[in-house]
Amino acid sequence: SMEFTDRLTRVEPSATLAISALATELENEGADVVDLSVGEPDFPTPRNIVDAGQAAMDAGHTGYTPSAGIIDLREAISEKLADDGLDHGSEEIIVTPGAKQALYEIVQALIADGDEVALLDPAWVSYEAMVKMAGGDLTRVDLSETDFLLEPALDDLADAVSDETKLLIVNSPSNPTGAVYSDAALEGVRDLAVEHDITVISDEIYKEITYGVEPTSLGTFEGMADRTITVNGFSKAYSMTGWRLGYFAGPEELIDQAGKLHSHSVSSAVNFVQHAGIEALENTDEAVEEMTEAFEDRRDLVVGLLEDHGVDVAVPEGAFYMMLPVDDDDQAWCEGAIEDAHVATVPGSAFGTPGYARISYAASEERLEEGIDRLAEEGYL
Ligand code: PLP
Repeated sequence: SMEFTDRLTRVEPSATLAISALATELENEGADVVDLSVGEPDFPTPRNIVDAGQAAMDAGHTGYTPSAGIIDLREAISEKLADDGLDHGSEEIIVTPGAKQALYEIVQALIADGDEVALLDPAWVSYEAMVKMAGGDLTRVDLSETDFLLEPALDDLADAVSDETKLLIVNSPSNPTGAVYSDAALEGVRDLAVEHDITVISDEIYKEITYGVEPTSLGTFEGMADRTITVNGFSKAYSMTGWRLGYFAGPEELIDQAGKLHSHSVSSAVNFVQHAGIEALENTDEAVEEMTEAFEDRRDLVVGLLEDHGVDVAVPEGAFYMMLPVDDDDQAWCEGAIEDAHVATVPGSAFGTPGYARISYAASEERLEEGIDRLAEEGYL
């Protein structure tokens, strides 16, 4: 039999995908599953973006591109980042097949065996796996006692990090909590990063999806420009999950090193997809706003329905997730919910925080109502 490497055997397959597989299995058996487990918008990709992708194919943009991405897209990204107050020329940007690949490349570039990486829990499932694959060790800071907010937990973060901490990953708005960190919280992160010389990844993939708050990019705080790597992507804001398009921006020395991994692995993101990305950045504000408004209405709907059933949640200010408090054995709760109520959610333990289930409200209002009704009927609320 084959022998596999430690870097893979110490990692589990993605828990989110495992739940989706269970939902699909039930659906194949004829069950009507309300799938609140998926991390993707339920909207089609806006028409202008699809048209731009098709036009690019027709125009023959089907060959290799420069490894870091076509210059026009990198310049459009540079302008988008400038709008967020970040100063990165096109030479400080790498376009990737999805933000996930960007994160993977950064972690591979910075983390070696035994290096310490700090995460704010609950944290998106793949951070842990990426760090483990690189050989790093995790330090986890639990935000579940502070309604998933960072500002009141800054003392805990201060206790967790030290000069040994090499990297901190911050994700605001957060998957899975929907929390948006305040400027005061980010200033606290800055102070610790500067004090202990920590590099910070700011995963801003949900930055465009917020409700009445404007999250500040971490790299804009004084002292952060040289130590922040900003990650973003097109999957969520533009409903382009399957197109696989994202990017990262950071100090040129990091870009040079990560760029080697990028060029020797994926080569580049897909050519015509990159052309569609320019259209997304330049001409899609209105569609993004409409989708965000729909997410906000759904958030209000779900929070209200849960309240009707006597369940209080930390109200998310961004992204399209919320954490539902459930039994201590959240794994069993999620399995039961999908088997008895045919409602799919993701156990909080997958994100480092047992006792919760993540609900994605990127589903129609009708399906959200149906899902909450069924959970209540089957005694899961
Ligand atoms: N970062 C976070 C926090 C996410 O939730 C996701 C997707 O679920 C990603 C990154 C990766 O997105 P993509 O690779 O589709 O750009």
